[in-house]
Amino acid sequence: MLPPNIESAFVAALSREQVMTDADVLALYSHDETPRACLPLAVLFPREQNEVVALMRVAMAHGVVLVARGAGSGNVGGALPAPQSVVVSFECMNRILEVNAADRYMVVQPGVITAEIDRVAREHGLFYPPDPGSSAYCRIGGNLAMNAAGPRAVKYGVTRDYVLGLRAVTGTGQLIQTGCRTTKGVTGLDLTRLLVGSEGTLALITEATLKLLPAPEARATLRVCYASNADACRAVARVMSQDVVPCALEFMDRQSIAAIQAAGAATDLPAGTASLLMVEADGVADDLPRQVAALQQALAGEGMLELQQATDKDAVTALWLARKSLSHAVKLIAPLKINEDVVVPVSRLTELVVYIEQLAAEYILPIVSFGHAGNGNLHVNIMVDPADAVQMQRAKTALRLLFAKVLALGGTLSGEHGIGSEKRPYVDMEIDAATLDIMRRIKSQFDPDNLLNPHKLLPDAG
Ligand SMILES: Cc1cc2nc3c(=O)[nH]c(=O)nc-3n(C[C@H](O)[C@H](O)[C@H](O)COP(=O)(O)OP(=O)(O)OC[C@H]3O[C@@H](n4cnc5c(N)ncnc54)[C@H](O)[C@@H]3O)c2cc1C
Repeated sequence: MLPPNIESAFVAALSREQVMTDADVLALYSHDETPRACLPLAVLFPREQNEVVALMRVAMAHGVVLVARGAGSGNVGGALPAPQSVVVSFECMNRILEVNAADRYMVVQPGVITAEIDRVAREHGLFYPPDPGSSAYCRIGGNLAMNAAGPRAVKYGVTRDYVLGLRAVTGTGQLIQTGCRTTKGVTGLDLTRLLVGSEGTLALITEATLKLLPAPEARATLRVCYASNADACRAVARVMSQDVVPCALEFMDRQSIAAIQAAGAATDLPAGTASLLMVEADGVADDLPRQVAALQQALAGEGMLELQQATDKDAVTALWLARKSLSHAVKLIAPLKINEDVVVPVSRLTELVVYIEQLAAEYILPIVSFGHAGNGNLHVNIMVDPADAVQMQRAKTALRLLFAKVLALGGTLSGEHGIGSEKRPYVDMEIDAATLDIMRRIKSQFDPDNLLNPHKLLPDAG
């Protein structure tokens, strides 16, 4: 229970209705997309930046740990409350403060839903490229903290590439302003890039200036079927080594295909399809046929069973909806999804998928893989039953082997989901002790009392 004097201090900093301690509210904010939960002591709902400064000062005065929260759609425990912590939900800081179409930027509060940013940008002939599968409900503050990405990252990059500047409140209660509103600017150290991806461990982000691009005029979608995962991944490598960069290059293995078919999409695939690529090109309408021809040429090769250019808008929408719901759909396969998000250089993707098939066979585990193949980014889902201790042990072993393989192939442990609490035990497989030490010292500069999302992202020293 939140001690009454601390509750009163938070109420004085915000207002009575912005400090919630009801049991049902605490339960609602006790988890993210991971299967873990921890009840917070309270949930705070700031509406303005100065309220974030005020609540941080209360936390400092009383040594209260704060865990920032967007929509709670993260799948690594980033927004999972620490024991005895208070959640700061940014959902009421949900205003778009400025759209500057001439200079192509938008200023937003952290609680704005990601898809809303793109929707409003398009009203001005612009668009906001980062498009996580959760964009219909996740919030930009969460995207910034996780450096989220999505299918369009293959051509347009990730959240970090679209942040011109930030305002944030550090663990010392200081409001800082980073970056600028121009697309060039090198004054000072680049704290904007540092805060993006810092998972709520350095500062509470209260405002962001986002870069927008002119919206592409037209888009073409290809659906390509292959006889094996390796055939599809070889095609991905061919696509990514020629001149036309697709704006999406998504991979699905056989079990992912079964999951989207269960959702009513792609029910007309040729017999023998073991792997599917969704490929999109965008740009000026007159140029699309040239792009499509180049992509078709690269996609054709051993094991290709069918290549269709989707002309039916409804079928394309259904395919994307099914693809974006895969993260939830695969949960029907087993009670628990160990959800990984590894990345390897695109030229090594075939080696990775073949290795995953070997791991699945050797450790007798259903493993479902899909993801942003154009970036070499695969969501590898090991489906398990937590009640089966022997299977859980096999999964644990397979997971460490998977990470070791990814690193040996020149890859990284997480492409977009982040580290949170779930992947912390593995971070030192990738980052050496000296580099981790500098990261910890940066954390202590921003947050000397370790009040902001402690025990996340970086492993504890020693
Ligand atoms: C179906 C599904 C599909 C997904 N697809 C993708 C995908 O394609 N790409 C992708 O990258 N991710 C994806 N995700 C993961 C998740 O949606 C992203 O990580 C997203 O960025 C989280 O946003 P959120 O608002 O839910 O943040 P939360 O989960 O609430 O929080 C995430 C982290 O951000 C921190 N945080 C939140 N707000 C702030 C703030 N204002 N200041 C400081 N820190 C803050 C939290 O403390 C936490 O560490 C998917 C998840 C689901 C469930």
